[in-house]
Amino acid sequence: YLTFCFAIGLSVIHLKATAQKKTIDQRVDSVLKLMTLDEKIGQLNQYSSKEELTGPAGENSNIAQEIKAGKVGSMLNVRGADRTRRMQELAMQARMKIPLLFGQDVIHGYKITFPIPLAEVASWDLTAIEQGSRIAAIETAASGVHWTFAPMVDIARDPRWGRVMEGAGEDPYLGSLVAKARVKGFQGKGLGNLDAIMACAKHFAAYGAAIGGRDYNSVDMSERTLWEVYLPPFKAAAEAGAATFMNSFNDLNGIPATGNAYLQRDILKGRWKFPGFVVSDWGSIGEMVPHGFVKDKKEAAESAIKAGSDMDMESRSYTAHLAQLVKDGKVPVALVDDAVKRILRKKFELGLFDDPYRFSNVQRETATVGIPQHREVAKDMARKSIVLMKNEKGLLPLSKTTKTIAIIGPLAKSEDDMLGFWSVGWPDNSDVVSQWEGIQNKVGNNAKLLYAKGCDVSDTSRAGFAEAIAAAQNADVVIVSVGERREMSGEAKSRANIHLPGVQEELLQALQATGKPVVVLINAGRPLVFNWTADNMPAILYTWWLGSEAGNAIADVLFGDYNPSGKLPMSFPRTEGQIPIYYNYFNTGRPAPDDDNPARYRSGYIDLQKSPRFAFGHGLSYTTFTYSDLQLSKPAMSAGDSIVVTFKLTNSGKVAGEEVAQLYLRDEIASLVRPVKELKDFKKLMLQPGETQTVRFVIKKDKLSFYNQQLQWVAEPGDFDLMIGGASNDIKLKGKFELK
Ligand code: BGC
Repeated sequence: YLTFCFAIGLSVIHLKATAQKKTIDQRVDSVLKLMTLDEKIGQLNQYSSKEELTGPAGENSNIAQEIKAGKVGSMLNVRGADRTRRMQELAMQARMKIPLLFGQDVIHGYKITFPIPLAEVASWDLTAIEQGSRIAAIETAASGVHWTFAPMVDIARDPRWGRVMEGAGEDPYLGSLVAKARVKGFQGKGLGNLDAIMACAKHFAAYGAAIGGRDYNSVDMSERTLWEVYLPPFKAAAEAGAATFMNSFNDLNGIPATGNAYLQRDILKGRWKFPGFVVSDWGSIGEMVPHGFVKDKKEAAESAIKAGSDMDMESRSYTAHLAQLVKDGKVPVALVDDAVKRILRKKFELGLFDDPYRFSNVQRETATVGIPQHREVAKDMARKSIVLMKNEKGLLPLSKTTKTIAIIGPLAKSEDDMLGFWSVGWPDNSDVVSQWEGIQNKVGNNAKLLYAKGCDVSDTSRAGFAEAIAAAQNADVVIVSVGERREMSGEAKSRANIHLPGVQEELLQALQATGKPVVVLINAGRPLVFNWTADNMPAILYTWWLGSEAGNAIADVLFGDYNPSGKLPMSFPRTEGQIPIYYNYFNTGRPAPDDDNPARYRSGYIDLQKSPRFAFGHGLSYTTFTYSDLQLSKPAMSAGDSIVVTFKLTNSGKVAGEEVAQLYLRDEIASLVRPVKELKDFKKLMLQPGETQTVRFVIKKDKLSFYNQQLQWVAEPGDFDLMIGGASNDIKLKGKFELK
């Protein structure tokens, strides 16, 4: 009887879902039927405008006229319950009364700024990452905004590229899980809920592989690398139900992504059956002209709509030319209709046709945005994002009874830089806790704090060194905060030289000469090169740009109230000449490279070690972990089968701590050359001192599969190596099994 009721229940839910879907599709069709061609094209246009909207000037502003004429489907960079409401009121004066969509780059938090995305990924904590996006969505939605242009899921193997800060690093497996977590976080329980906003997986596709790490540059890539490395996080985002995708500025093998039917129509909307819509990147439809791919914006519009770009962000090519292209028979109206339907469907799903103002509620905004509970979550995320790179002689954590602490460096008192490149509220830094402030909050009156700037980030002057040295000499311990300014990593912020900028490393040398113990905090949006520091400084924390609660989070880690657990999501090179560098490189015909003998006819450089400075997955703790007792449930499996892998993880140190245990696999012999190792699973566990837990991984065919030469997703029979450890270069347990 129970089973019967359950089955009935399920079919009712199913019927309801189908009915609802039908209703939306039918409603979309009924709206579409009433629309003129110009009104349809209006839906495909997205603008930004800083024009005033109130008073007579506002009523007559260009944007107000355009909205009232039904020429705008979406606005970007319009936020706030009040302002979005006023704009929506204009849309309600248009003949069709179709609500506007408001989009915004909410990349790592809205009012409360979270750590930059790359930093959050260093937590390897998918629940926390999802929660971070959830909070961002809650604040964003309460400010009248329906849509974030995030997550950026571009794989990045080149730290010269300034946008590595926005992504999940170099690994497709980790990147896919993060993509999914972020989409779930933004979209919550689903569009239609008042705290859910549309996610946008970007930049489709392969934008992260710009040649030489130069932003906007061409991408030249084998089909196999595209599928194996760059597409998986997009596929994961689509499977997680991302409402929208954004295409990208780059060309891929000669075809701009915006005009690329293979990417947008064949793969995304075809093979992956993506039901949402694709927005162009800012002006990217128009950029196909300077690309030399089309002659003018008219041809650009034709190319983009045919290739599956549904909404034109800022280039105005669709408004200017689509109608004529349809009239001339160059663009079938069915293509326009399909794009409009995809957009209208989202407006229905968001509930905007039922109430266009439902997100624009000033009371809800005031009660929701920037509240202390969100700040707490941001602080926890910031602590989880910090990576302990090095800790000699147990210098960290610092004692809370330290009498005098010198806090030195250009970023020690900075608030702005903690916000990172993409922060919605910048330049309003009023809610940021600097490192100086965080340490002050922590030690109160127990310690005396001295401060000296030492130098600026990009300074060439050493004039401030003397003051810094004097402060150090008067202190028991020195904390130095160095790195990049917020505008040094981000869009259009590629850098050829990614060494610690200016004379900052010289400042560290001068401080080391005082003989005082020095703790280094490195704040940056990307992996930096800092060899002298890595060789000579006893304790280094990588603190990225951690957002509103940066200072408090860092103080918790410095003084041991939080045991660092972050692990690097990107390899750190020894020097720029080693880039691109990533842990999952292919086997070569030469013996495994050997750092001690770089010149031995192996794949590497005669003047540099082969290994990265810090490896993918690296990150220390205030405690230590031991791995033991590896067991495989059987030595061989068939394709329909699985192997259970277990091992024991022990906290062998003196304090509680978390470890990210990582599982890597290597396909020994395959029809295509395979990587030396690939991350295939991981678990983050909290262990008390002396505690042992059994960790379990399940290996199924999917973890053994790859795209073969025909681009089929296959697992080939043969032997596999299994490696488990705390970093890609710190393998503690090794095993082998066979796929029959
Ligand atoms: C960036 C996108 C961003 C858009 C809107 C573009 O320049 O590439 O990532 O979403 O601007 O701000």
